[in-house]
Amino acid sequence: MSKPITFNPGPSTLYPFIGEIVSEALVSGILEASHRSESFVNLYLETKELLHDRLNLPGEYSVYFLSSATEAWNVVAEGYVARKSAHFYSGDFGRKWFEYTQKIHADSIGFPFNPNKIPEVETDGNVELVAITHNETSNGSRVDCNFISEIKRDRVLIAVDATSSMAGAALDFSVADIWFASVQKCFGLPAGLAVMFSSPRAVEKMNLVAFDKRYNAVANIHKMSLKGQTVFTPNVLAIYLLNGVLKRIPNINSIANRITERAKSAYQISNSYFQALINNPQAQSQTVICYRCAEPEIVKQYFLLQHNVRLGSGYGELKTTTFRLANFPAIDDDTFYQTIHLLNDFQP
Ligand SMILES: *Cc1c(COP(=O)(O)O)cnc(C)c1O
Repeated sequence: MSKPITFNPGPSTLYPFIGEIVSEALVSGILEASHRSESFVNLYLETKELLHDRLNLPGEYSVYFLSSATEAWNVVAEGYVARKSAHFYSGDFGRKWFEYTQKIHADSIGFPFNPNKIPEVETDGNVELVAITHNETSNGSRVDCNFISEIKRDRVLIAVDATSSMAGAALDFSVADIWFASVQKCFGLPAGLAVMFSSPRAVEKMNLVAFDKRYNAVANIHKMSLKGQTVFTPNVLAIYLLNGVLKRIPNINSIANRITERAKSAYQISNSYFQALINNPQAQSQTVICYRCAEPEIVKQYFLLQHNVRLGSGYGELKTTTFRLANFPAIDDDTFYQTIHLLNDFQP
């Protein structure tokens, strides 16, 4: 039997043209070139331009390449915070970001909230950065950009982990200063690379914090980015693949329309055996749908054995009570709607 179609929200289904881009990379010579060479600088700068164009990222935002979103949690904590950040989270990814940051800044505070509710964000005068997860992959919830835009920003920077929504949802980047995402989710790429965007305000603040004691201090990363370079020899193949994917996909607005339509059908599934965990429409993720279910193993086993479809497991605390469905753009519409149909009809 061929490999299963995966609806796991990361690592996830790859775009079908990844193989073609790998071959192109091999022939191009870029994988054997120095990361200080003109060909790498061109790759960096072109990929940056493509990110601006496809994702509607405002021109003044800097673009950095990191190895993962987890690394970005650390880079943000050390690069933009001198003493205290405030973390609003409804699930495991946001909580982990908070916990890692707290190891660096003992004063940082966490505000857990119910994923079905929209959080209230109030910070005291000492908070320098507000950290939010746009799309909480663990429970299938989101906080939309309208909400983020209401956070008072005169004193603080806002940093957003958009790992499971960037390149799948239309994000209004202007509402926050720092954005990052790993590429093995909505970008439809293999793992091992993350992108991070930084507003001019964030660059200014970074210079105040001026932490440059580690190789991946954002001050170092930023300085190199101005030359179209990275601090260390980066995952050139991954950057090349990102470049090739961006060249082949349309603007985010058209991707997001497709994803939103599909999400509607995923939330309309009517099956007494499982229900969407998030029922507040405003808080429903468009890219990761999480279903509450007494026996998720039964559903997952059935789909794998009968249909060669791998549904996503529950995550963390929700491992045994939920399963997840990635609604990522690399999954084609036919496959997606067929699976929705099967989920509708499922009987244990
Ligand atoms: C997957 C995920 C991460 C972790 O990504 P890594 O590439 O493993 O570092 C972080 N945040 C969110 C919201 C995620 O979905």
